[in-house]
Amino acid sequence: MTRFDVLIVGGGLAGASLALALEPLGLRVALVEAVTERQRIASAAGDRALALARGSVDIFQELGIWKHVWEHATPIKTIHVSDKGHFGKTRLHASDLGLEDFGHVVTARHLEKAVFEAGRKRAIEYICPATVTGLQTEATEIQIELESKEQLKRCRSRLVVAADGGNSRIRQWAGIGQWVNDYQQTALVANVLTEIPHHFVAFERFTDTGPLAMLPLQGSKCAMIWTHERKNAREILSLTPQDIQVRLQETFGWKLGRLKLEGNVKSFPLCLIRAKRLFAERIALVGNAAHQLHPVAGQGFNLGLRDVMALSRLLEKQVLQGGDPGALTLLEKYAKGRLSDHNKIIGFSDGLIDLFTPATIPLALARNLGLTALDHLPMAKRWFARQAMGM
Ligand SMILES: Cc1cc2nc3c(=O)[nH]c(=O)nc-3n(C[C@H](O)[C@H](O)[C@H](O)COP(=O)(O)OP(=O)(O)OC[C@H]3O[C@@H](n4cnc5c(N)ncnc54)[C@H](O)[C@@H]3O)c2cc1C
Repeated sequence: MTRFDVLIVGGGLAGASLALALEPLGLRVALVEAVTERQRIASAAGDRALALARGSVDIFQELGIWKHVWEHATPIKTIHVSDKGHFGKTRLHASDLGLEDFGHVVTARHLEKAVFEAGRKRAIEYICPATVTGLQTEATEIQIELESKEQLKRCRSRLVVAADGGNSRIRQWAGIGQWVNDYQQTALVANVLTEIPHHFVAFERFTDTGPLAMLPLQGSKCAMIWTHERKNAREILSLTPQDIQVRLQETFGWKLGRLKLEGNVKSFPLCLIRAKRLFAERIALVGNAAHQLHPVAGQGFNLGLRDVMALSRLLEKQVLQGGDPGALTLLEKYAKGRLSDHNKIIGFSDGLIDLFTPATIPLALARNLGLTALDHLPMAKRWFARQAMGM
């Protein structure tokens, strides 16, 4: 039976990045992914734009793949936050903080392609397409059951990393509970051609129906992430593209001139899922398997990438000392080390939704005063920018 030191379940961005980070350590690493590369490229989810914080860009540089991504990426030099129909607004300029940018926007498809192609050239065993269908934890290893081309296979690993997304089966099999907050919201995602260039500004506009983000893409194009209550989203999706365009223009305004939708509008139901623990015996959780966030603050993958690096750094130390990669002490350290980052980012994203979703007059007034104050307080601006960058 094949034996590995680390078996990663899930070859999404978190799992594939972890495989890259572990490759230089000399461990026997395998990555199991249910979906073929062709299916992934064809998937509508690949069209979503990801705002990568500066820290994530640094990590991709360290992993040696930023050189394949940067030509598809667009820097965010200014963040413009406003409240539709109210006076409050604030602008955060990276240059005011002595930075070149706050991060970059890249479509998930471009990033995935770069991560997978880099992985294929390195000594990582890809087991794909294959689905993990069961686990059995033993004293020194985990026995893993895989289904591939309708054949059942077995292998063993000293550590299993659950990178299998928000509905993680591994999390469930490990008996790890979860907190769920179904926001009853849907994100509508599309690319939008703009008449006026975006000048590398990321717009976050809070409206009575939910937040609307416009992230700068290459050329005169932005990625729209428009959050609605579920039934409103259904209603919008039933409109013609021309009517959706009119609604969008009415909601966003004319800062970018006439807006034109490019391609179809895709929808993503939104809910917060947070694992109650980040580990079980010989199992660690990373990425969406540990936390699936609302995209309002653009932090989900940034947070997941920091899980990946934290785990790989602990594994590097462990390997140097000749230790067991699935040791309980390592897993405890990993969970303890990630707690404060998770609390902060989940609190920040959740807080933004609470603050900006309801349209009650006192809350609308408070948030407008808050945005106006933020615009005049350099310290507060710096704090907000640091949270937005996931720092
Ligand atoms: C509209 C939208 C906008 C977003 N914007 C941002 C943003 O601006 N910035 C940001 O940081 N984040 C953003 N996010 C979040 C980001 O997309 C996710 O956090 C990230 O893609 C999660 O990656 P993952 O690898 O953890 O999980 P996933 O992408 O869900 O990957 C899990 C993988 O595991 C595989 N799998 C599952 N079960 C099994 C099994 N049993 N066996 C084998 N394989 C299995 C699946 O096929 C899948 O490929 C956004 C999300 C959405 C929906």
